[in-house]
Amino acid sequence: MMLPYLPATLPFPTPSLDLVEFWRHCAGRRLKFQACAECSVARHPPTPLCPHCHSKLITWIEAPSIGRIFSYTIVYNASHETVGPYLPYNVVLVEFEGMDNLRLVSNVIDAAPHELAIGREVVLAWEEGPEGQLLPRFKLHQGD
Ligand code: ZN
Repeated sequence: MMLPYLPATLPFPTPSLDLVEFWRHCAGRRLKFQACAECSVARHPPTPLCPHCHSKLITWIEAPSIGRIFSYTIVYNASHETVGPYLPYNVVLVEFEGMDNLRLVSNVIDAAPHELAIGREVVLAWEEGPEGQLLPRFKLHQGD
């Protein structure tokens, strides 16, 4: 059995001002995270100030296409009626080499439940949302 995940057809929220640039990069199939231009610490979600050194200088750095599952859960109870038909679904926290303390909330697609594990490598896979937005999701890396 393949484990369902949140469908790309779910309503897409209007991005906050800080997230507009993140989604603009996604539209170009680039997973980029905001980073501090002074101390280089990457962060997500984006914020106007660096939480590490308080600089307002921002740059954007591309994530490696392979990440690792930092943690995950399988959701069995619908928190909203729109996700009811998709239970159970997985939610993963993905971390990337060289980006300490940055984790992206996403889903792993095309995976069986027993295949999800903390530390497993995952590969970036773009999916199209209801209005053509590109959503960063992941597939299990077949190399490990
Ligand atoms: Zn900084």
